[in-house]
Amino acid sequence: MITTKEEIEAFYKKLFPITRSLTGNGNLETIRILNEIINLNVSKVPTGEKVFDWTIPNEWNIKEAWIKNTKGEKIIDIANSNIHIMSYSESIHTKLKLKELAAHLFYLLEQPNAIPYKTSYYHRNWGFCLTYNDYKNNFNDEEEYEVFIDSELKEGHLSYADYLIEGKSQSEYLISTYFCHPSMVNDNLSGVLLTAFLAKEFSKLSLNYSYRFVFIPETIGAITYCWKNEEKMKNLLGGFVVSCVAGPGKFGYKKTYLENSLLDRIVNYTLFENGIDFIKYPFEPQGSDERQYSSPGFRIPVGLITKDKFHEYEYYHTSLDDLNFAKPEYLIDSLKIYLEVIKNLDANQKFISLNPNCEPQLGRRGLYPTIGRRTIKSNTESYNELDVILWLLFYGDGSLTLFEIHEKTGIAFADLVNAAEILKEKNLMNLMPVGKE
Ligand code: ZN
Repeated sequence: MITTKEEIEAFYKKLFPITRSLTGNGNLETIRILNEIINLNVSKVPTGEKVFDWTIPNEWNIKEAWIKNTKGEKIIDIANSNIHIMSYSESIHTKLKLKELAAHLFYLLEQPNAIPYKTSYYHRNWGFCLTYNDYKNNFNDEEEYEVFIDSELKEGHLSYADYLIEGKSQSEYLISTYFCHPSMVNDNLSGVLLTAFLAKEFSKLSLNYSYRFVFIPETIGAITYCWKNEEKMKNLLGGFVVSCVAGPGKFGYKKTYLENSLLDRIVNYTLFENGIDFIKYPFEPQGSDERQYSSPGFRIPVGLITKDKFHEYEYYHTSLDDLNFAKPEYLIDSLKIYLEVIKNLDANQKFISLNPNCEPQLGRRGLYPTIGRRTIKSNTESYNELDVILWLLFYGDGSLTLFEIHEKTGIAFADLVNAAEILKEKNLMNLMPVGKE
């Protein structure tokens, strides 16, 4: 792996303070910084454009937002944290008593030190988010509060970016992440950075399949991306939504809608081989953009490998999901796993004999006597190099992938991949990309 903890730390610091949302300058600034890692293609879709059943919303930018008490002291100010403002808040300048203001203040009784993260994308509203402790200490029924929000909601653009890696085959996998959250790390600065560094890692390798790395605002962005790339997206083999990958807790895997697809099985195998004890989550439409990509028109099997999955950790959607919580070293752990999983996916191909009528003469090709009888230990049983070759030749009718031959024989996937390469070099077999399930 070429990515270092120091690099991740440096990008964490650059990207953390930026105010991101569905649209706006912060999103473009985020893409600009990600361009220092990989060279992204940027697309802009104008406000009002129809994308399937949805419409691109107005662009939102926030300049200033605060509340002052009667002494003129700012008791909330987004200069201190961009989570203080409800995303897509409209402009307002008024004086209110707590009675009227209360409907626009959000805090968490059960987590008195956390600022909750709130949005109101499709319903015109305004609001401030604060810790319960700040609420208790700074607000009372007597005072009148000056409320000021200077935001802009205007016709503009929704921006997204992608990065394509062309492998030997046109068949593609998708790796998608969302960058619409302001200053929170596990959800989802971690996913954004993991995806960018994963793309960088893979850009240096020779690959069997092609890969599509996608950076979008959640939901509307995924819908827009599918709208703009409909034909291509309908042929994708499978993929991942990279969300919440740097928590201190356990790894988890949310299955694809197929639950037991090749991709699901390869993820399970890779995690197991790497000695990772992980939580298995069933597929459900609730979650992230997997429900767009797996919707009836597209049916891409999309899974999520997480480390402290959304909805499951205490600091989810609060200001405490910060750099102290979701540390760079946890992100490195997840990046390693994603790398291993995608390497295995990439190595999995269909295996077809070029000499299907009875077994080929191995000795003549220097395969039989030189193989010897060295025993390789697998997790399930012992086998030798000749066994590996004979099983491959036996199953090489083109109906099975290498991973499925592993499942049938118990031979370690990596041993099958190595032996398949040797048989290919000897012109005994051909390797073909897997098809869409
Ligand atoms: Zn979220």
